[in-house]
Amino acid sequence: MENGNKDYVPQSLSKAIDTDESGESAVKVKCKDQREALPGEPKCVVCGRYGEYICDETDDDICSMECKQSVLCKMANRNALPFDFPPPKKLPAADECFYVKDSNCSGSSSLTCEQTELLRRKLGIVIKGDIGCAPTLSFSSCNLPQKLLQNLETAGYEMPTAVQMQAIPAACLGKNLLVSAETGSGKTVSYLVPIVSYCARVRLENFHGEKKPLAMVLTPTRELCIQVEEQAKLLGKGMPFKTALVVGGDALAGQVYRIEQGVELIVATPGRLVDLLMKHDIEFDELKTFVLDEVDCLLQKGFRDQVLQIFTALSRPQILMYSATTSPEVEKMARTMGDGTVIITAGMSNKPTKALKQLVIWVESKNKKQKLFDILASKQHFMPPLVVYVGSRLGADLLSNAITVTTGIKALSIHGHKSMKERREAMKSFLVGDVQVMVATGILGRGMDLLRVRQVIVFDMPNSIKEYVHQIGRASRLGEEGKAIVFVNGENTNLFQDLVEILKSSGAPIPRELSNSHYAVNSSHTARNGRKRKYT
Ligand code: ADP
Ligand code: MG
Repeated sequence: MENGNKDYVPQSLSKAIDTDESGESAVKVKCKDQREALPGEPKCVVCGRYGEYICDETDDDICSMECKQSVLCKMANRNALPFDFPPPKKLPAADECFYVKDSNCSGSSSLTCEQTELLRRKLGIVIKGDIGCAPTLSFSSCNLPQKLLQNLETAGYEMPTAVQMQAIPAACLGKNLLVSAETGSGKTVSYLVPIVSYCARVRLENFHGEKKPLAMVLTPTRELCIQVEEQAKLLGKGMPFKTALVVGGDALAGQVYRIEQGVELIVATPGRLVDLLMKHDIEFDELKTFVLDEVDCLLQKGFRDQVLQIFTALSRPQILMYSATTSPEVEKMARTMGDGTVIITAGMSNKPTKALKQLVIWVESKNKKQKLFDILASKQHFMPPLVVYVGSRLGADLLSNAITVTTGIKALSIHGHKSMKERREAMKSFLVGDVQVMVATGILGRGMDLLRVRQVIVFDMPNSIKEYVHQIGRASRLGEEGKAIVFVNGENTNLFQDLVEILKSSGAPIPRELSNSHYAVNSSHTARNGRKRKYT
């Protein structure tokens, strides 16, 4: 950095200039050092690059100290002139934000118990525990800020989905929840709406108070965090609601700086958040809501210790847990983490959505590549954009290259060994349609809302049937039809029994090799027969 500049740097920023102990790059000085903003990311109000920081004096998104200077200069000039400038940025008045009365979120629903039960049955909702509120049929009956209702409308969300109808009022009541609902059923909005509503309310009531984080969402992957943050920004637009993304691969210094400037919501992966807790003194004592999205994955070995470490560092917040797949162990942990945890199930738990067509094909491993190329060459079967799920990072790179070389179709790979920059660029190219095929490991299997994707190919079966349900779930959202082509062979015998059960319950055809296999027969059947059937 040039010395001459330093005199002009505001004190609060100059502290953050140096590289931190971990050697991560610190706050950008020049605007040219900042990268372009990706869709949905904050943009610098001066140059339009990635708005990585917040200008503490004006609350504007800025990319570097250079642009911060420029914002401050403009403000100084503006203050010197008596007329003709728009008033300084002001938060919406409380009455613009609230006053949509007639709430049934307080549990004072006008429905009788029988009517509530009937409604839940129609919506496919089952409750375990004391929920204290009926499902709500509209966003407007939830006592939400007016601006949030407008944002929901702008996003095209006319009415809540089934899971939102029950989870939003319960979360607004402060209940601890474990919510299980099909892939693509709108679980993200069901926790973000209560969070945005609460944050806006608190900030408007305590306009000049310290801005410590009020809510935190953990998800297992960086890509999912990016997506959740984008959705949160959409819902919180125009309200006192700022977010920070805390994921590996991006500089920690910039993430810490952003939090220190005051944010309402942190969206994080567990590993990076633990890093943050160890190295920095961020206070979480006002954190009201802690969300575990894809909770069964977050409570598995590998993530569990980090998640519990984070949870222990918080002061008993409300805990909201979501997934399309849960288990009795997850329920047990959920109950120990939150007092009186209520379990909401909407639709079928642990099953693919009915709108998904599964086509399972028996293919020996050595023939899989050719089979894939045949599908890609077929006008009838290739429906881009397409995600191909594989089991290894190397496999993802090799297969995406092979697709491009052999078929001429543009393909990219995405996995955990790529840099954050490569991962962002790959996602961007895929989502805007520059690339037709994305070859991915499980990092794109959980929670991603891949808007135009209606087809996935499971090239390598994942390790568990739950991951299978999540991966094929990427091909359908909100009941729209999607197709999953799935390759299986004798290497996947550990999943045969569960897979056959899922295919049967979905009414999908079962290849002969699979149905004839003794691995596909469930244990009670085997026991009844008194002998093991031979593998044919
Ligand atoms: P899940 O987490 O259950 O897998 P998502 O939260 O990713 O599902 O939502 C799936 C899609 O549904 C997203 O594209 C989201 O924008 C959309 N969506 C969510 N709620 C509504 C709603 N009430 N009306 C219309 N679309 C919605
Ligand atoms: Mg989700």
